[in-house]
Amino acid sequence: LQTREQHIRREKATSNICTAQVLPAVIASMYAVYHGPEGLKRIAQRTARLAAILKAGLTQLGFTHGHHDSAFDTLSLKTGDATDAIAARAVQMGANLRKAWDSYLCISLDETSTRADVELLWRIFAGAGKQLPDFAALERSAPDLIPAELRRTSAYLTHPVFNTHHNETAMLRYIRKLSDKDLALDRSMIPLGSCTMKLNATSEMIPITWPEFANVHPFAPADQLAGYAELDHLLRDWLCQATGYAGVSLQPNAGSQGEYAGLLAIKAWHEAQGHAHRTVCLIPSSAHGTNPASAQMAGMQVVVTKCDENGNVDMQDLQAQCEKHSANLSCVMITYPSTHGVFETQVKELCQIVHSHGGRVYVDGANMNALVGVAAPGEFGGDVSHLNLHKTFCIPHGGGGPGVGPVCVVEDLVPFLPGHATAQASGSLPPLPLGEGRGEDPRVGAVSAAPLGNAAVLPISWMYIRMMGADGLTAATEAAILSANYISVRLAEHYPTLYASANGHVAHECILDLRQLKDTSDVMAEDVAKRLIDYGFHAPTLSFPVANTLMVEPTESEDLAELDRFIAAMIAIREEIRQIENGTWPQDDNPLKNAPHTAESLLAAEWKHSYPREVAAFPIASLRQTKYWAPVGRVDNVYGDRNLFCSCVPIEDLA
Ligand SMILES: *Cc1c(COP(=O)(O)O)cnc(C)c1O
Repeated sequence: LQTREQHIRREKATSNICTAQVLPAVIASMYAVYHGPEGLKRIAQRTARLAAILKAGLTQLGFTHGHHDSAFDTLSLKTGDATDAIAARAVQMGANLRKAWDSYLCISLDETSTRADVELLWRIFAGAGKQLPDFAALERSAPDLIPAELRRTSAYLTHPVFNTHHNETAMLRYIRKLSDKDLALDRSMIPLGSCTMKLNATSEMIPITWPEFANVHPFAPADQLAGYAELDHLLRDWLCQATGYAGVSLQPNAGSQGEYAGLLAIKAWHEAQGHAHRTVCLIPSSAHGTNPASAQMAGMQVVVTKCDENGNVDMQDLQAQCEKHSANLSCVMITYPSTHGVFETQVKELCQIVHSHGGRVYVDGANMNALVGVAAPGEFGGDVSHLNLHKTFCIPHGGGGPGVGPVCVVEDLVPFLPGHATAQASGSLPPLPLGEGRGEDPRVGAVSAAPLGNAAVLPISWMYIRMMGADGLTAATEAAILSANYISVRLAEHYPTLYASANGHVAHECILDLRQLKDTSDVMAEDVAKRLIDYGFHAPTLSFPVANTLMVEPTESEDLAELDRFIAAMIAIREEIRQIENGTWPQDDNPLKNAPHTAESLLAAEWKHSYPREVAAFPIASLRQTKYWAPVGRVDNVYGDRNLFCSCVPIEDLA
């Protein structure tokens, strides 16, 4: 609901969340599917038991447990003056313990912990020469640490899905069954404009599984994070080169969070100049929904400026608003290239106007796929941008996330990039090289719980940039722009492109205008989007940013054959629309209105439609070789949005 809110409520939104953590959430849900309620309980009981044995042994060694007697998987031991010595011994012997409240050491166990780990911890705490506790004896005698009144007795995870797939064969088939329903990048291009769904190359993905990256704790001591420090350093350096900016923080977990961090930096900078009253943020009406939502979250006052009939920022209105709000102007937020898929030619002039009124320019860099190697926002007048590593730089984001939304800034804003109190205190985020007389650390607070955000997926972007090199990245940008223009031109006589530059070209995406079809055939963009599923294509972005249009972004990942396959499908659908226009098929019963067609509906004994089953299922010959079968037929989106449905087992069955 919050992700819908930022697009719809814009400057009245109470959240700017866009990219979420869907892929990690899917992994967590599969963990529950595989283990089920009994398995999770067994895992928890074993962990709790190990913690109880660990505690009993530490008691024998003379250490008292923190502030209370109960515990689940975590113990805090009063270690007093010995705290530093024990912590140092732990690191030497291969364990990291957390220091807390100066004189405590904290330990967490989990399902990966073993008897050997418990004995190692005893050796660490005992120091040399002491008699170690007897594991087997304590296993029998140690009292449980979970209080009786907190023990759960009610049922949980009762849905059949959590009680069916408990061996690897069954689990594999369950996941396969789910993926068969999905129309993903492994079957067709996903031409979702503005989302940049591109190849996540295997060689980019492999390193994130290496334990050296995957098993590092974000708060491990700084001297154990040398690899991540190098990764952070190199990636920031390369992103500075790609964007023309002076400093980057990789902390934000989404583009929208990068916007938030960037706006906080602008705000803090104005405050440092003694201009805390500068809070007005101008945003053209064409902006992505996150822009006004982020400005609102950062406590700014959003003023929307107009676009002209070509979809470009209305420069006269922008100038007038800058003059009107000159004394209180904080910044302007523009998207480049614009959300209309166009390189606006007056962007330098726009930046100069804003600067002349004391404001800063935020350039939404989510569309950097159209710029890398060709133009740099830090050079054409931007002061701050965010990037979407999960778009332009190849991190997979099916369903929306995990994301990385680096925030990039010009020189004088570098000191205001996000900090992180815990990481700064422990030295894993180095102090800023502050200029003389700057005094206190001016960084804005953390925008993410971990100092390096979604650090574990950074190797993907690192690999992409490292493998492509400067020439490769430029070639990718050029191919992305060429592909979008190819689609736009090839489809021009069937579906005109809504916005283009004066030279008739688009950037890396094109908005196909379907609005006139409503009058001639009652066909809406949504009907074409659904019909594309019958043709084996994921739909393009629907009705964004203009209602009843399709926004197509092919990216450089698609070859000419796949572009042609998409174009052929779109042209074939236009011919189908002609059959409605000329009256062969009724407006309310045709392959578009009834799309997508499920196998079940096509194989039903009765077929009452005005067109044959073959036309529904195999409108072009190639589909007979590879056919994607939609798992569900047409859904009433608006009704579904307004009425909550639960796919749970009915409550009566549970009773
Ligand atoms: C995707 C996108 C965003 C938001 O990025 P998230 O990572 O989804 O938060 C912002 N602006 C533009 C132009 C985008 O395309």
